Amino acid sequence: MSVLTENNISLQNEISILKKAKNAVILAHYYQEPEIQEIADFVGDSLELAKKAATTNADIIVFAGVHFMAETAKILNPSKKVLLPDINAGCSLAESCPPEAFQELKEQYPNHAVVTYINCSAEIKAMSDVVCTSSNAERVINSIALDKSIIFAPDKNLGRYLIEKTGREMLLWDGACIVHEAFSIDKLLELYAKYPLAKIIAHPESEEHILKISNYIGSTSGMLNFVKSSQQDTFIVATEAGILHQMQMDVPNKTLIPVPAKEDNSCACSECAFMKMNTLQKLKACLKDESPEIILKERLMKAAHRPIKRMMEL
Ligand code: SF4
Repeated sequence: MSVLTENNISLQNEISILKKAKNAVILAHYYQEPEIQEIADFVGDSLELAKKAATTNADIIVFAGVHFMAETAKILNPSKKVLLPDINAGCSLAESCPPEAFQELKEQYPNHAVVTYINCSAEIKAMSDVVCTSSNAERVINSIALDKSIIFAPDKNLGRYLIEKTGREMLLWDGACIVHEAFSIDKLLELYAKYPLAKIIAHPESEEHILKISNYIGSTSGMLNFVKSSQQDTFIVATEAGILHQMQMDVPNKTLIPVPAKEDNSCACSECAFMKMNTLQKLKACLKDESPEIILKERLMKAAHRPIKRMMEL
């Protein structure tokens, strides 16, 4: 739950007034701070937010998430103003795949189909045949002709999981998310010993040894649905801890325990420092100043739009 300080409430009120005056919409990722999720018009995972961004009538989209997500919103809405409260809110996974190095790999394997996870830069999307999210990745891989070899980037953990699920051989880019690679298997097992009836649920960006012992593996929205529909009442959750806010609202009587990170951290859970760079103050300032804005070259947007559109069609 958010800390509803007087300051937060007054910031939320000011944001609502600005939002109306400017015909803006606030899209927030599940990994955002609770007080941002509460003020958002829509909260979702990457796929849900991309779909929402594609259909909005607002003049301004404020994307409370990280840079590649705001870029995707801009690519889907080239004529709209897309704002990101903190322009430095990046993503370790997207940054693990620099465009020049990826171009070199593509040149080595010119006949491979290129499937990229949405957590990558606009430049990488522009070099792809089709984009996917963790919700639809299996379906996207299965849509590639069986006689076609595949390059999958940038997440090697999701890639490995997809190889196992689809039985397709894929050339994997060596990228990863710092948050999902930080989970401690030892601490997870300690938790499980304490709560033997709990179900372990994990995002496929997690490492193989975490996925191997999980009862359910799925996207952020998949995990939310699993927890809602399961008869079980205790869950050990291996993904960014921000999801617990929405989850706990959906299932107020169930117990949700975040998997701790390898390093000792004060909240005993794993949080994405990039996602947490956005604050209510920055959200208000960016709406007021209409900045920082996501600016992309026309040609890049067109090239990156094709593989996203293909994903949407699938
Ligand atoms: S949780 Fe990982 S993949 Fe998601 S934005 Fe943060 S660094 Fe990127």
